[in-house]
Amino acid sequence: MSQWLIRPLVFGVIEVKKEQLTTGLDVGLPLKVPYLGFYLTDGSRKVLCDTGINAKYIIDGKAWAGSPAEGGGKWVLKALAAEGLTPDEIDTVIYSHLHNDHAGNCHLFSHARHVFQDAEWKELLDPLPSMMIRGDFDQSLIPEMKNLNCQRIVGDVELFDGLSLILTPGHTAGSQCLLVSTRQGVYIIAGDTVHILPIAFPFMKEMTLMDGSRLQITPAPKNWGAAVPSSLVYDHYAWYRSVYRIQSLLRSPEHLIAGHEPSIVGKVFG
Ligand SMILES: [Zn+2]
Repeated sequence: MSQWLIRPLVFGVIEVKKEQLTTGLDVGLPLKVPYLGFYLTDGSRKVLCDTGINAKYIIDGKAWAGSPAEGGGKWVLKALAAEGLTPDEIDTVIYSHLHNDHAGNCHLFSHARHVFQDAEWKELLDPLPSMMIRGDFDQSLIPEMKNLNCQRIVGDVELFDGLSLILTPGHTAGSQCLLVSTRQGVYIIAGDTVHILPIAFPFMKEMTLMDGSRLQITPAPKNWGAAVPSSLVYDHYAWYRSVYRIQSLLRSPEHLIAGHEPSIVGKVFG
């Protein structure tokens, strides 16, 4: 089986309130988290997971839910350049989902195949009003993606040797995780199904921030169960099933790569 390398790329930063990510816990606590992409290579293929937020979605320094944010295409180009890459070299872009902070710079990758779940495309085409209030989806993405070489997939797919996609709905209808085989075992890139690690490991007492410092956090009460949803879950039944599935596939907690997890900045997996 091919062995892959996973390099997290920082495409921006947003400061949210922690209770937006772990509902009801640490109310009012500010938390800076990265907008992330992931460069994946098996030595020949050059794959990108997610394309970050477009600068047009950051108005007066604020993005989703009025949160202070930085990011945009310049961040994407800079992060790729630091890996010695240009956008034209990326052969495949995989989307964990199509929220505007994960698909916002799709247009930079006009030479690539763009892979996402069919259910996600349908939801972007016809979102419920609540999915638009805080700027989760932005339909200006639709014509941009129609200009690209897109592949809509359905369900679980082995895209390449050692790189599989599994449908994990709940955060959105077509959220998917990447299962990536490396020399250190299979990592799961979870997208926003798990924004930060305390969502899937709710008894954590501290987090590591982007600068390496530690933040004391409140563990979930035992009777909350094995996961804590964020305030951004469209289908709670589906989401719990997806998180239980992710937890059951994990070789160790260290093999979970959460979609906005601050502690992974600067790390390499594999
Ligand atoms: Zn999202």
